[in-house]
Amino acid sequence: MTMAGNAKKGALLAAATDMEPIHGSIEVDVPADILWRGFNKPNLWPRWNPCFFWCRNKTLRLGDKLVWCFEPIRPWYLYKMFAIANIIELEEGKKVTWEVTALPGFYAHHTYSIDDLGDGRSRFTSWEKAYGWGFRLTRLFWLKHFTFVRNRSLEGARALEIVHLTGEKLDATGIPPRSYFNFLAAVAGLLALIVAFAALGAWALLVAVAEAAIGVALWFYAAYVKLRPVRLAPGVHALLGGGGNTLVVEDGEDTLLADTKFPPGSWLLRRWLRQEGIGPVTKMINTHYHYDHSRGNVLFPEAECIAHELTRQAMDRVDGSWWTRHRGVEPTHVFDGERTTIMVGAREVELIFLGHGHTVGDVAVNVVAAGVIATSDIIFNGYYCYMDLHREGMSVPGTIEALRRFAGEHPKAIFMPGHGPIARAAELLRTAAYLEDLMRQVSAARAAGKSLAATLAAVDLTEWDLQILPSFHQNRLEWATARSSIRAMYQLLERAG
Ligand SMILES: [Zn+2]
Repeated sequence: MTMAGNAKKGALLAAATDMEPIHGSIEVDVPADILWRGFNKPNLWPRWNPCFFWCRNKTLRLGDKLVWCFEPIRPWYLYKMFAIANIIELEEGKKVTWEVTALPGFYAHHTYSIDDLGDGRSRFTSWEKAYGWGFRLTRLFWLKHFTFVRNRSLEGARALEIVHLTGEKLDATGIPPRSYFNFLAAVAGLLALIVAFAALGAWALLVAVAEAAIGVALWFYAAYVKLRPVRLAPGVHALLGGGGNTLVVEDGEDTLLADTKFPPGSWLLRRWLRQEGIGPVTKMINTHYHYDHSRGNVLFPEAECIAHELTRQAMDRVDGSWWTRHRGVEPTHVFDGERTTIMVGAREVELIFLGHGHTVGDVAVNVVAAGVIATSDIIFNGYYCYMDLHREGMSVPGTIEALRRFAGEHPKAIFMPGHGPIARAAELLRTAAYLEDLMRQVSAARAAGKSLAATLAAVDLTEWDLQILPSFHQNRLEWATARSSIRAMYQLLERAG
């Protein structure tokens, strides 16, 4: 069913050339009717679609006003954007369109649609277009905003798919709630600041500086340190964040950790295990030698530790002094072949050597019957990846090869990446395409005789819309960014000659 809406403006919009429609799709293993029922609860959108801060409507109804609030296009921009629109088209189970008329000189349509692909699969699409003098005046912002909405919406559909595949319902009981902690802390901070200025005058500047520091610390904690548990299958949990992601597999008396994070994430991991009554930990795997996946080993000294032989060697060569000071928790069970199988209780867990990828000794962990695979750091899902320049570190072609091979061999698996949210084969392929683009652009710049500085200026990675990620090296905070990735790629190519 459709309503006229503003028919004249609708027709003008269709013909307008102020912008190309910003659209995109994602295919998910969710039957179309189930996906629609999950989608048709706008007040739950902020839980799974990170572009929404809040939405009032409980359901979509033709002719209703949709009232919501957007998140900012960058997390550190201090705004929320209120929005109101008229629902002018609703094909139950398939499609909704709303028109935005509230801004002067601005008229837009946004459509979300779900196509049934058969076989329990569907395609989720976001489509948006605007025109008008008000739009043209602020065009650059709107193009960024529409791109943000599309990208976050497609990621959100993936998040809904994971909820569905892990056996939860796409409703308020199954979709994890979102946290308003940071927002409430910011509001409380602002109020405290106003009170401080009224009471203290210029001394309130001290309060402002202290609050800013607390604000940054809270944001850092919420974004990178706090753990997000996701139950992937009975007895199989992903603990996302706080360093490298950790996979927990339990069966009977046996508990396996694939990667153990580093403090303070490792402390939070141990606390979570205790709270859930899981453990004691009997086995741990280090998927590769990096500190953010292995230094938490010290908290589980009773567990036997398994890694690839090359990982064990890299630990000694690169981080030898640390491991010497922490004897007894290094990998004691090493394997050097292509794969090996271990048992966790009655569960079969396959360790697959990935070849020289993110490091020389990457191992993926396949919980066979559950269809869940921890990939190690060959994928940083949604983030720029940390590129290790040691001899034991990254091979970009090797990582691309491993991602493609893995996606092809396990098209239906649920992947826990080394960093970032739960992924499917499509995200592995996207990461491979990103790395290929990075390598191609930097190679071309080098072939044209460009210096590192000129290459940094020439290579453009914005279309990949990746987020930055912190890491610590020699006790210094470093960020994986577009610049650090281009620089590392340049150096890797320089070394390869
Ligand atoms: Zn890592």
